[in-house]
Amino acid sequence: MKPAAFEYHAPATAGEAVELLAEWGDEAKAIAGGQSLMPMMLLRLTVFDHLVDLRRLHELRGIRQREQAVWIGAGTTHSAVGRSDLIRQSAPLLARATPLIGHAQIRNRGTLGGSIAHADAAAEYPAVALTLDAEFELLSPRGTRTVAAADFFTGMWATALEPDELLTGITVPEWHGRRGFAIEEFARRSGDFAMAGATVAVGLDADSRIDRCAIGLFGLGPGPERAHHIEREVLGSHVREVSAEEVGRAATARLTSVPADLHGSANYRKRLGAVLVARAWQRAVEEATDD
Ligand code: FAD
Repeated sequence: MKPAAFEYHAPATAGEAVELLAEWGDEAKAIAGGQSLMPMMLLRLTVFDHLVDLRRLHELRGIRQREQAVWIGAGTTHSAVGRSDLIRQSAPLLARATPLIGHAQIRNRGTLGGSIAHADAAAEYPAVALTLDAEFELLSPRGTRTVAAADFFTGMWATALEPDELLTGITVPEWHGRRGFAIEEFARRSGDFAMAGATVAVGLDADSRIDRCAIGLFGLGPGPERAHHIEREVLGSHVREVSAEEVGRAATARLTSVPADLHGSANYRKRLGAVLVARAWQRAVEEATDD
């Protein structure tokens, strides 16, 4: 398998990279770890005349403490995310999602920004970013803008990124106090994309009443989703009064675009999703109450 011919560009700064993307428009594409883009180009599912390599852009790498948040450069590899003590401490859900992504070789090359920008419906990082209300910094020749995760994912492999925009960094707010986080997924083989997955973040007040809650779903629609209706419903309840199974059922009840393929029907995936939400809920609650 060989890709169609393309011209290779290796800019030294993010500013140069977006100028190149603007110059070539739809004929150009940024390449980071190449773990999603290269297979598609090799299979000729997609063709670009110009590839703009982000590898030399040091400003896109790094993990830094910000006020009440952690900032992660879009070019940071999955492996670096998984190894970071700061991320384990400030955004544990992101750290816990990392070993579930592909294989070690993929995690060594693939980048956080590449996964977010690619926006695969079954990918872990987009769902985690949505669950944690992350914000994305986008750079173009027109300047910088910040987009909330809730406004970024717009459909199947679709995002708010313009063709001449680069994702430069991701800011993940910290949760303080009594809180628990969990991610659960089911894949047919280790390293495969998940058939379905769920993320839960839960916060409790001193009386063990739920004062914050976020439930994310992946592999269960055209993109990552939040189960806002059940999040709102459980707020204020004592954590022991909430049934994990009921949360799982309610979180998946309203899904209308669950994918189906030879590995599982939409109905099967929906039921799987309910079980995964229930398991993630249980684990997140156990962590939040473990004090
Ligand atoms: P690339 O492949 O380089 O780019 C992907 C897309 O993002 C392209 O459209 C590119 O233009 C765009 N892009 C990249 N960086 C930027 C940026 N900074 N700004 C704007 N656009 C950008 N992923 C999972 O989530 N879960 C899995 O279980 C999983 N399993 C995998 C198994 C295999 C066998 C393989 C090959 C991949 C798997 N992946 C999985 C995908 C992997 O996580 C990729 O690394 C990731 O999706 C893309 O990151 P990348 O840096 O390689 O991006």
